[in-house]
Amino acid sequence: MTRPVVQVAVPRPLRRIFDYSLPAQLPQPSIGARVRVPFGRSEVLGIVTGFRQMSSHRLKPLIDILDEDALLARDLIALAEWLSSYYHHPLGEVYATLLPSAAKRGALPKPRWPLAWTAATDDGGRLARAPRQRQAFETLQGLGATVPERELRTAGIDRRTLAALADKGLAQSSETKPTYRVERSPISLNPEQRAAVNTIHASIGTHATHVLDGVTGSGKTEVYMRVIAKVLDTGGQVMVLVPEIGLTPQAMAHFRRRFGGAAALHSAETDNARLNIWAQCKSGDHRILVGTRSAVFTPFADLRLIIVDEEHDTSFKQQEGLRYSARDVALKRAQLLEIPTVLGSATPSLETLANIARGRYRRNVLKSRAGGASMPQFRVIDIRGRRLRDGLSDTLLHAIRRHLDAGNQVLVFINRRGFAPTCLCSACGWQARCADCDARLTLHESPRALHCHHCDRRYRYPDACPDCGADTLVHLGTGTQRIDAALREHFPELPLYRIDRDTAQGPTRFAAQLDTIRREGAAILVGTQMLAKGHHLPAVTLVAVVDADNGFLSSDFRAPERTAQNIVQVAGRAGRAERPGEVWIQSYDPDNPNLKALIQRGYAGFAAIQAADRRSARLPPYAAMAMLRAESTNAHAAVELLRLASDIIRRAWDNHGRRTSGDRPGRPVQSRSEAPIEPGSGSWKSAATAGDTHPEFELMGPVPAPIPRLRNRFRYQCMICSRRRGPLHAALSALEAAELVVPKVRWSIDVDPLDTF
Ligand code: ADP
Ligand code: ZN
Ligand code: ZN
Repeated sequence: MTRPVVQVAVPRPLRRIFDYSLPAQLPQPSIGARVRVPFGRSEVLGIVTGFRQMSSHRLKPLIDILDEDALLARDLIALAEWLSSYYHHPLGEVYATLLPSAAKRGALPKPRWPLAWTAATDDGGRLARAPRQRQAFETLQGLGATVPERELRTAGIDRRTLAALADKGLAQSSETKPTYRVERSPISLNPEQRAAVNTIHASIGTHATHVLDGVTGSGKTEVYMRVIAKVLDTGGQVMVLVPEIGLTPQAMAHFRRRFGGAAALHSAETDNARLNIWAQCKSGDHRILVGTRSAVFTPFADLRLIIVDEEHDTSFKQQEGLRYSARDVALKRAQLLEIPTVLGSATPSLETLANIARGRYRRNVLKSRAGGASMPQFRVIDIRGRRLRDGLSDTLLHAIRRHLDAGNQVLVFINRRGFAPTCLCSACGWQARCADCDARLTLHESPRALHCHHCDRRYRYPDACPDCGADTLVHLGTGTQRIDAALREHFPELPLYRIDRDTAQGPTRFAAQLDTIRREGAAILVGTQMLAKGHHLPAVTLVAVVDADNGFLSSDFRAPERTAQNIVQVAGRAGRAERPGEVWIQSYDPDNPNLKALIQRGYAGFAAIQAADRRSARLPPYAAMAMLRAESTNAHAAVELLRLASDIIRRAWDNHGRRTSGDRPGRPVQSRSEAPIEPGSGSWKSAATAGDTHPEFELMGPVPAPIPRLRNRFRYQCMICSRRRGPLHAALSALEAAELVVPKVRWSIDVDPLDTF
């Protein structure tokens, strides 16, 4: 009998699967098992993807099989295949992204649990000559029947001593698995919440996508909890994706209180801890998983519901390697498993709104704040012609003082770290720029230094202008540190908390800091979007947005959407309790239609205007988009690669046009590859909105990337747009098949890119 040939995906950037023969002494592995195989001159761990009967080549034999059963169940194998084809990424590397690092190194995913210890009733005098063990034994006895090892460690008893006691039969350890249960909620749902819970509940066991479109503070979490309770009642598991690590402790506390358990998975955990949680979900012991982006790949024994909280958040998109959107992957997974998904947000993405309009998603609206709090009032401060001090107008300072005097808290939002984004010489015009990037340096205080926010390189602050030697350096623009310093000067007697990436020290510290803030009386909070998301800050009655213009005037077509989401989210921190809230926004462009729509008609009104703009410009979600990016120490090589890639794509489109020209008159393929490629000369916006005859396909570029040089590598990009998804994928497949290589050039395909400019 001939043995089958084993097909293996190896973690290499190669767009094919490799065949291996199966030696006589090895059993046939399962699909989804890890195997050790020879590759080139080394050995790698790959994943078995299938079998075939024969191969014409002489094959190398498989070395070893690591998993008796599949490490990855069928649904994850199918998901990996979808990821590979949708994102045009090599299957072996998809698996490498999907698996926890420890599993990639060969570790076995066996669920481990924290231990608890029980002491015997009596030591029978056997510890007379071991005072340390005797003391530990007595402490253990004193602490109760079964004591978690963690608690013993804080009491100064280490694992060695406990093991010695166990050897003597005087102590016994046991694993403490969580016991899931459903606590009754003290909250009685309002009619909108109840309707949402009922609709979602009714779809359990089917594939359905629900949007929970609820204003900030409308009680979305309570809706999630009720639906989770229903799933737990039937014995199923739930996956909850959250955008930020900072949100996890708060969510975890809620979940554990209500359900007796919940696992948290995020990048701050160690590799082994991550693998352990992975295994605990795979075995079915953990029934609720709350995690950030990559948690979407966790295996489950019986997953019955996926919740994506703050579905609009851009941190769900991975920006390197396999450039997946965790939200979209979650939706695909739910489709494969035939289970429902809930996408929650106060500011749904335009993609999600378009899918609601197309009837693909079901919308559940929570219009008002739960518990009776009212929505905050918006007000725009026209700062044209006004003198600002450190970015703050007198009007805004008066408002801040008024709220602080009333004993309330004020949140000042500015989405930029550091003191000032520009440092220049007023005598000769010299600018502080990064030596390795085409980017200005940001001034940071305490300690004073210049930081490159793109490559993280730091520079000593010059004593005088490096060019003309004059003592005339000035700092333009405003970041969190500048606002922090200015407000400390104005309100020296009040506590001030600054929260941005520079002050953040892990989720636990962040949660503790938020707790402190919640206990404060009048206080000032200064922060970036880190502070805007999801946190409950009941004493905040004024949210001050220092600068709304940057985002609304940016050339990135997604910037207005992101800015509006940020404003609404940060505004949502105001007046969440009994005290009503206000949101004041400084703007040099108060008549901006986007800003006006947002203020006068709310996020939905803003989104409607944006959607119309996107539709007429044929931009996502009304077109499919992909981005090709190339970078190299040699600028010409990067451009060369993109030119070759563009040729392949255009040829694929020509073929497509010919194939479909029978029923649909082929629209011309529009190309802008002749566009000049000097830095700063490219503009998607004008390109995308030019003219009103929309071609079926558009290819724009190569043009320099927004940061044309980063870490001394030159970066170029092409944007590809297609009215329909099919042809875009066909063109990208043709590009993949060509296996383009230009020496020294790294390049990537980004499907559904978020950063386009
Ligand atoms: P969201 O996630 O929509 O911003 P939350 O879930 O944080 O809102 O809810 C805001 C507050 O309202 C929480 O303190 C929550 O306990 C409370 N809440 C939720 N539902 C109700 C309800 N039906 N009645 C009273 N309070 C509620
Ligand atoms: Zn100078
Ligand atoms: Zn730099």
